[in-house]
Amino acid sequence: MNVVDLIVKNDYCIGCGVCAGVCPSNNLHMDWSDKGELIPKLNDSCKDKCSICLDICPFNNHPINQDDIAESLYANIPNINYNEYAGYFLNCYVGFHKDEEKRIKSASGGLASLFLASLLEEKIVDKIICVGNFGNEDRMFDFGILNDPNEVYSCAGSAYYPVEISRVLKEIIKEKEQLTYAVIALPCVVYALRLAMEKIPKLKKKIKIIASLTCGQLQNRYCTELLALESGIKIDELKKMDFRRKSPKNSAANFLQVATDENKNEGVPQPNQELPFFLWHYHFFKQNACNYCDDVFGELADVTFMDAWLPEYVKDYKGTSLVITRTPLTAKILKKWQHTSTIDVEKIIKSQSGVIHKKRTLVKGRLYKSTFSNQFFPKKRVLPDKKIYDKNKEFIELTFEIQKLSKKKWIKYRFNNSTDEFWNDLTRINSRIKRYTKEGKLQSLLKTPKLLFKKLSGMI
Ligand SMILES: Cc1cc2nc3c(=O)[nH]c(=O)nc-3n(C[C@H](O)[C@H](O)[C@H](O)COP(=O)(O)OP(=O)(O)OC[C@H]3O[C@@H](n4cnc5c(N)ncnc54)[C@H](O)[C@@H]3O)c2cc1C
Ligand code: SF4
Ligand code: SF4
Repeated sequence: MNVVDLIVKNDYCIGCGVCAGVCPSNNLHMDWSDKGELIPKLNDSCKDKCSICLDICPFNNHPINQDDIAESLYANIPNINYNEYAGYFLNCYVGFHKDEEKRIKSASGGLASLFLASLLEEKIVDKIICVGNFGNEDRMFDFGILNDPNEVYSCAGSAYYPVEISRVLKEIIKEKEQLTYAVIALPCVVYALRLAMEKIPKLKKKIKIIASLTCGQLQNRYCTELLALESGIKIDELKKMDFRRKSPKNSAANFLQVATDENKNEGVPQPNQELPFFLWHYHFFKQNACNYCDDVFGELADVTFMDAWLPEYVKDYKGTSLVITRTPLTAKILKKWQHTSTIDVEKIIKSQSGVIHKKRTLVKGRLYKSTFSNQFFPKKRVLPDKKIYDKNKEFIELTFEIQKLSKKKWIKYRFNNSTDEFWNDLTRINSRIKRYTKEGKLQSLLKTPKLLFKKLSGMI
């Protein structure tokens, strides 16, 4: 048995690439699936008795879970605190990069890039592993290994796009030098890395610091394509996507999504709150694995960065970051910074209340639905719950349907000159979406799909 037979076949793969990175026979490679997601594929049949890919997969069932690993990492640190959702923490911070240019180029307040660049500047690690656009034709975003703080700053921003870490892990495992690394990743990837570090001592020795981003969900690459086509850039001409362009005219939450074509022409900027609330809220293009994820705050990371989605900060278009530190080293680095102050953990929890509902409550209902069949499903820290399923049945079923349909239909229309036919073909979910709108304000998707898509701001 390997991850392809169990995890990919049952559609629980998030495409992290850790399995392909650590396979001792180099028997797995990461590639696009026909659903626009990254998955491991087999090069050859597996050697008997090897199960390392399954041992490190964040969506397989393991004898120890995230709570056990977090306890072994952080529980004995002096003055450590614990919160049900944030996990172990030493301190929480709010702030931004004091250099305004760097702050504006970042996703939130730029503290993640400042942290990673400081690790190089202060020689705490030799290299940084982070995500950027490295000009790879096949992957708009990818993990890369950097040793220059300026390169780290050039990777600022959020990649709402599938990325995988196999190439980087292979390089570190192969490397003879005793270099040290810090890596930034989403919570599921952090979990896979922690499991892999237990299996491969060389990785544990080299990866000195792990940073995480708080994570609500991940869309497949078709979502990026849809945003580009909405902005007037055709898929075969799409070169780049800036998911977090800031504008003085908008609040921090209404950032712009800007696609660029191969001739460096930019499409019409798409304001976040005028388009994707609809996309995000109803799970268009969402990867199935995210439905079974119960880690909001990257509880196994030494430090976690996120948006300050609180009314007092969201007004400032330049962006503000929130940070959770879990080790004395990460807390020491944060304490030194100007424009950063401590904040109560309850504020951090409040800033992510919607994500917590999705990943700690609704997941119980989805897990209950998984018990209907005899198929494999991942065990989580939260348990299947019939009451949650019954209470949220329509929303859970609706969003599963939208996920499936959006991926299937986009394949048919992705090379069109506009998104009209795609939206028209999705009319059968219209009546079900309407049930979830307040006082029927969301008018007929059937009649005006494109108009609806353009005018959602503030209506729901
Ligand atoms: C898929 C996804 C979902 C998210 N969901 C939420 C959420 O629900 N709530 C919330 O508050 N924040 C969420 N974030 C985090 C948020 O978008 C910002 O990344 C975070 O606030 C850090 O901002 P910053 O200005 O401090 O970072 P910056 O200074 O802009 O640096 C960001 C760093 O993150 C790295 N990075 C970007 N994309 C990825 C990726 N896909 N995988 C690994 N590393 C990456 C970059 O390489 C860079 O080093 C999400 C991010 C992603 C990628
Ligand atoms: S989730 Fe990650 S480790 Fe698991 S099968 Fe997918 S790529 Fe491999
Ligand atoms: S929601 Fe969970 S599984 Fe999905 S990308 Fe985020 S951390 Fe990974």
